[in-house]
Amino acid sequence: MNRFTRWLTNYVRPPKAERIDLNRRTAITSGLGGLLGVLVFRSHPLAQGKTFNPGLIRPPGSHSEREFLARCVKCGECMKVCPTNGIQPAFLQAGLEGMWTPVMNMKLGYCEYECTLCGQVCPTQAIQELTLETLPDGQTVRLEPLQPTEDGVETPIEERKPMKIGQAFFDANRCLPYAFARSCIVCEEHCPTSPKAIWVEEVERLNSAGEMVPLKLPHVDPARCVGCGICENVCPLKDKSGIYVTSAGESRNKENQFLLASESANPFADFESDAGADPYGAANPYGDSGGGESPY
Ligand code: SF4
Ligand code: SF4
Ligand code: SF4
Repeated sequence: MNRFTRWLTNYVRPPKAERIDLNRRTAITSGLGGLLGVLVFRSHPLAQGKTFNPGLIRPPGSHSEREFLARCVKCGECMKVCPTNGIQPAFLQAGLEGMWTPVMNMKLGYCEYECTLCGQVCPTQAIQELTLETLPDGQTVRLEPLQPTEDGVETPIEERKPMKIGQAFFDANRCLPYAFARSCIVCEEHCPTSPKAIWVEEVERLNSAGEMVPLKLPHVDPARCVGCGICENVCPLKDKSGIYVTSAGESRNKENQFLLASESANPFADFESDAGADPYGAANPYGDSGGGESPY
């Protein structure tokens, strides 16, 4: 019997003289097991916020991943209240620690453009409550949550951006106009932003009969897309859509970005700069200055 086997045997069934109180042994073993459990649960890079799972799309207003996991008690209130059933319990998208936490499933539902219900019912504010702003043209925009500043002064409204939970991408191997030269603009029709995040390019393509036919090719403007997922939900390809949303560009993770700050969406930019008509007035830093032409 080697030393390790002898130690293990003694540990599991120590000689009578050395036996300690069973309750104490149980307590120590349980404590060590718990500690090991925490390490295993948090060993996943996603749980540490180091990598970004494209399928880990959290409801709008969610904190960054580490903070979200620390707050979420998996009560399911957000799932119950979501009017589209878009919020579903996670399996392993966020590692073991994230099981049963809420993630968006755009095939089952989507995020309603002007809804803030999940943030209203979350008891721990893992999902922060979002504010809605009505713009001069009447449309309502859901803004990113207010963040505390160093000097305690509230972030000016012109520095806040629309809430983005992810980004839509076309799959050119499945989207009907791209893959089969067949007309379809269902996603463009349902896109809720104004102006729409999906825009169409009018082109001519060769069809299977060898004829040039007019075709509308849809594209996504990443500066306007908020990742709501309606496009993915309504796509006629029901098994796997021709357009899909990933967590890229989500507001909650400043590291998971692919646009320069100057290219990010700002729905206020092209409204009247007259302070009377435009509540954000001349202070709007996104106006005409810098960052190229605004999509708005
Ligand atoms: S804000 Fe979006 S995800 Fe949250 S409850 Fe409303 S529709 Fe569902
Ligand atoms: S309501 Fe809040 S705490 Fe409850 S499951 Fe949803 S995110 Fe987690
Ligand atoms: S492109 Fe899709 S995900 Fe993006 S805003 Fe439009 S409908 Fe929503």
